[in-house]
Amino acid sequence: MAGDCIFCKLVSGEIPTAKVYEDDSVLAFQDRNPVAPTHVLVIPKKHIDGLASSSETDRELLGSIQLAIRKIAADAGLADYRVVSNNGRGAGQSVFHLHYHLLSGRRMSWPPG
Ligand code: AMP
Ligand code: ZN
Repeated sequence: MAGDCIFCKLVSGEIPTAKVYEDDSVLAFQDRNPVAPTHVLVIPKKHIDGLASSSETDRELLGSIQLAIRKIAADAGLADYRVVSNNGRGAGQSVFHLHYHLLSGRRMSWPPG
């Protein structure tokens, strides 16, 4: 747990959240400010600042996150969805605990803004 990290507090239960999925290493919950009809955040329980701070030792964890996303989408019957991870303030990252946005339920444009 990283000191003041809000997502670590969701993992520990210190702050309650609308949980969507959980396993040994991954937690998924509803984004509190959804930008699509489905907007789920999928995070490692272990604190990692962002993708750039992950390493070879996180290989299995990073795989588990993608498989969790696949399962969440399949269980929700989603066929079309987008997975986004913002790395760095300039790319839109505002919470510095690695997370993947799972977005679905509306038309997505490309390139993203
Ligand atoms: P990013 O801007 O990529 O770092 O995404 C951070 C996301 O976390 C935003 O979409 C926020 O709405 C969301 N968020 C921040 N705090 C919480 C919280 N306590 N519960 C759920 N979602 C949150
Ligand atoms: Zn954290």
